[in-house]
Amino acid sequence: MAGIVARGVGKHYPLAKTDKLALSNVDLNVQDGEFICLLGPSGCGKTTLLNILGGLEPASQGTVRFTGVGDPRRGYMFQEPRLLPWLSVRDNLRFVLDQRTRSEALDSWLKRVGLGGYGDYFPAQLSVGMQQRAAVARALITEPEVLFMDEPFSALDELTALRLRDELLGLWHERRCTVVFVTHNPLEAVYLADRVLVMSPSPGRITQEIRVGEHFPRPRELEDAALWRLSRGVVGLLMGEGALT
Ligand code: ADP
Ligand code: MG
Repeated sequence: MAGIVARGVGKHYPLAKTDKLALSNVDLNVQDGEFICLLGPSGCGKTTLLNILGGLEPASQGTVRFTGVGDPRRGYMFQEPRLLPWLSVRDNLRFVLDQRTRSEALDSWLKRVGLGGYGDYFPAQLSVGMQQRAAVARALITEPEVLFMDEPFSALDELTALRLRDELLGLWHERRCTVVFVTHNPLEAVYLADRVLVMSPSPGRITQEIRVGEHFPRPRELEDAALWRLSRGVVGLLMGEGALT
């Protein structure tokens, strides 16, 4: 199992005239098995930070290290499903595993994300919501110790997003992997997270920490008035810092 420690992380992108400073001096601790949400306005550097934490992009300054033994297995999910269009849904799952993995094992995962019977379909034959379900299965089938998720549900209709959030929480509850989840949706953040880290507008820094887990035990209710009030408070926080988009 694994946690994450980031110290003094900065990022600048070299541009033709001046460098773009995307992140400035980010310190972060994520505990093993913790579910954290990075929340902030569009363009504040959430994706940049997630990619640096996940090892997909180098930092310009600072360090990121994993706690625990060795290099943890990592899983990724993005705003778009990013399935390989020329492979069936079943073969998209097989692609991230041993190629000899038996179809029954893959199909049981498809069933768990509500895609039982769709193994032979190609991505283009499924709705985006169904494709994103397949992406959830693909991210979790490798049994990651740390899961990095970049606005995975924000392109979905709200009903599908509601279901997928609960499915994700169910799977996380079973496996207790560490999750870093990026969103610009305050209600989603307080519903999902043990801890919400609020980022400032660009250049992104972590300006607030909301320890949701201390006040809202799980399972939570999305209709819980206190949770709504908290999310409204977070909106206010963000409005003070910059507009939500
Ligand atoms: P968010 O995910 O919060 O919307 P990003 O991390 O994508 O924000 O981007 C943060 C800032 O860095 C933005 O101003 C964006 O324009 C800039 N940026 C992101 N990627 C690049 C890149 N490859 N080159 C130059 N600027 C970039
Ligand atoms: Mg982003």
